[in-house]
Amino acid sequence: MSVLVVGAGPTGLVLALNLARRGVPLRIIDENAGPGQHSRAMAVQARTLEFYRSFGFADEIVAEGIVVERLHLRESGRDERPHQILQLDFTDLGDGMSPFPFVLTYPQDDHERFLVKKLADAGVTVERNTRLETFTQSAEGVDAKLSGPNGDEHVAVRYICGCDGVHSTVRETLGLGFAGGTYEHFYFVCDAKVASGFERDLFVTVGTGTLALMFPVRSTGMQRLIGLVPRNFSDPQSTTFDDIRGEIEPLLGTTVTEVNWFSCYRVHHRVAEHFRKGRAFIVGDAGHVHSPVGGQGMNTGIGDATNLGWKLADVVRGRVAESVLDTFEPERIAFAHALVNTTDRVFTEIVRPGVRGELIRRIVGPLLMTVGTQFSAGRHELFRTVSQTQINYAGSALSAGRAGRVSGGDRLPWVATLDNFAPLSSLDWQVHCYGSPGTKASAFCKQLGISLHAFAWNEDCGHAGFARDAHYLVRPDGYVAAAVDGDDAMRLESYADRIGLQAKAL
Ligand SMILES: Cc1cc2nc3c(=O)[nH]c(=O)nc-3n(C[C@H](O)[C@H](O)[C@H](O)COP(=O)(O)OP(=O)(O)OC[C@H]3O[C@@H](n4cnc5c(N)ncnc54)[C@H](O)[C@@H]3O)c2cc1C
Repeated sequence: MSVLVVGAGPTGLVLALNLARRGVPLRIIDENAGPGQHSRAMAVQARTLEFYRSFGFADEIVAEGIVVERLHLRESGRDERPHQILQLDFTDLGDGMSPFPFVLTYPQDDHERFLVKKLADAGVTVERNTRLETFTQSAEGVDAKLSGPNGDEHVAVRYICGCDGVHSTVRETLGLGFAGGTYEHFYFVCDAKVASGFERDLFVTVGTGTLALMFPVRSTGMQRLIGLVPRNFSDPQSTTFDDIRGEIEPLLGTTVTEVNWFSCYRVHHRVAEHFRKGRAFIVGDAGHVHSPVGGQGMNTGIGDATNLGWKLADVVRGRVAESVLDTFEPERIAFAHALVNTTDRVFTEIVRPGVRGELIRRIVGPLLMTVGTQFSAGRHELFRTVSQTQINYAGSALSAGRAGRVSGGDRLPWVATLDNFAPLSSLDWQVHCYGSPGTKASAFCKQLGISLHAFAWNEDCGHAGFARDAHYLVRPDGYVAAAVDGDDAMRLESYADRIGLQAKAL
């Protein structure tokens, strides 16, 4: 067995899919009997959908979720009714930047069930009620002790991946620090019916030291409510919706008529000291957790899993040198630190007593200036940040060169008129040329079994930043590895040598 994936939350499932679709033998275990019932994450960002498109199922997820059409940002008023500060049209926020220029809501529990099915279609079943107890590692491999329905067993694998959430056994076994803290406040999440009927928009209301969000859930026809439990409650276990109804309904601006389920969470802000030690990796919430403000946590875990998935697969299959695995931590930990710091700043601002007016002035005000005016530059900037399409790996040991405005490490820019993301469904290395491919670059591709995609040059290629007739070596996760002007195959060859890129086995 090559890889043991510990944890079948969204991170573990996406990692397992990345491995299974590339033919890597793996096991995936979870100590729970099934996907979480009380779903947390709702927002599925464009970058996640772009990854899913490579697997061929983005459109199915979009059809099962709800494309958020409008965001209503509101402030709780003195008369205890929220009043609107800003309405933002969300449908075309990232027009021309991504095949998915919107924010999708799709509950995490439905999302996990969907991924479990796709994984089963790829021939892998999640082993439930099976817990990683501990493991040891040596230069040769990993010995993991599991306890499951049939008792204890030891498994020998080449690599172990801890996708086991905030209380990660893998992280703890490795003795890695998890610096940060735990917020005093806790969040509630519930599925509920509201008196105003099924609302398709996203409502965010900021009150004094509090916050409530309301999203639509297609599968239940209900609203998902997420918010901060008022300060006077201190026990997440015993708090019920009726306890907080008096404070929350004025924020929602409607009455809750039925509660399907209700659950409370404590939230941490922490980043692990390292994301890798030898043959063990930590991925997703096991490596970074933060306040749900901004809907980024699950999407970041899926981004980690996508980054690690192709690297592990290519190392196991002998396509690239093992040193490529060294790039996982530097490529992902910088973003994790930035995300945790940003969400911490915003969250601390929100919960600071008596801060409402200041919050509006310092955070919402600038937002109003940039995006509320409908100026496309501000809207596009917001989209880039929230959708995670701005994440890049500039400075990584895997990133080289620049041609036009596109550098090694950039997400491959999308050109709508050419749909240049379609070939990413091969889940493999590829070279893109916008214009006429050179003979030397063509020979390089042939030698390594890499497909060369030539796109007829049009002005949109230039707008996206590509240089005419340049060659872009694209990684299996859709990021540019190396960019070279013209037919400079020597630079492609030296890049391939550096990372030990081998010809694909027939
Ligand atoms: C209120 C709230 C709202 C949120 N909203 C959003 C949002 O809109 N968008 C977003 O992107 N994120 C959001 N998040 C964050 C998101 O829920 C998490 O980031 C996401 O669940 C992390 O996924 P994961 O797979 O890394 O970990 P988890 O979902 O925690 O999964 C870990 C899995 O590992 C298993 N496990 C643990 N230990 C072991 C062991 N020893 N052996 C075997 N199995 C084990 C567990 O059973 C679990 O199934 C929200 C979080 C909260 C609290």
